[in-house]
Amino acid sequence: MKITPQNLQDGLPFAESLHFRKGRKEKVRVLVIHTAETPENNKMAESIQSYCQRRKDTVSCHEAVDNDSVVCGVRPFDTAWTTGSINNFSYSYELAGRASQNKEQWADEFSTAMLAIVAKRVAKAALCWNIPIRKLTPAELKAGASGICGHVDQTVAYEVKGGHSDPGPNFPWEKFLNHVRAELALLTGETAPIVVEPVAPVVPVAPVVAKPTKPVLKRGTSGAAVKELQQILQTKKLYMSGIDGYFGPVTEQAVRRFQTSAKIVIDGIVGPQTWKALLS
Ligand SMILES: [Zn+2]
Repeated sequence: MKITPQNLQDGLPFAESLHFRKGRKEKVRVLVIHTAETPENNKMAESIQSYCQRRKDTVSCHEAVDNDSVVCGVRPFDTAWTTGSINNFSYSYELAGRASQNKEQWADEFSTAMLAIVAKRVAKAALCWNIPIRKLTPAELKAGASGICGHVDQTVAYEVKGGHSDPGPNFPWEKFLNHVRAELALLTGETAPIVVEPVAPVVPVAPVVAKPTKPVLKRGTSGAAVKELQQILQTKKLYMSGIDGYFGPVTEQAVRRFQTSAKIVIDGIVGPQTWKALLS
């Protein structure tokens, strides 16, 4: 199905913001990532939009995201009041968390799960408005280029006094954009071009010697076999997160993608059939 501004938010809860403008004065060409400067918990998407239904400072956003959900507050064909001078041609995501997060905090379980959801949402929006998956510099943003950026890029580009610095200096742009590319590839059925080096060091996959049995891996498993699984999934460009040896939701999602592409049972569990397909 073709993704359009009319169906981009289909299936998502909607809590209409108090302040926004009906319609668009310009075509959307920029997707903007914000941090909402909130704690990290699974009620924040709901909470951010609930606040936008009553806040007096006229701020609103299109989508609020936490580690398990997305809640919309302004429709794609309407203009949210999130990012000052670029509101007319931008679409906005408010993420649970803070611009002050360090690299480790952006890679923790909450942020990893949340960024996986944001990557899916951004891929869909990119397809909707034909926006290239690339990080815009402030200069490119100001020059009229199309792509993805943070609130901070608007602050710098337009020299906004007291402007915002979100999503912060440690937001994992490279890893995130690769994740968006992988999601876009799933939507279009094309192979994801990986255009930058992954953030995590690439661990070479050991040549496969015939080993009779592999342990069954599923959500909650950890250890060397999970590391091996993550490395294999990474070489297949299905897994963009760190090789941490922990089978969490992101690993499970990658396993499901692999099972889908291998046309085997899609259960997110790595048993004998999935191991065989992975190692063949
Ligand atoms: Zn912001």
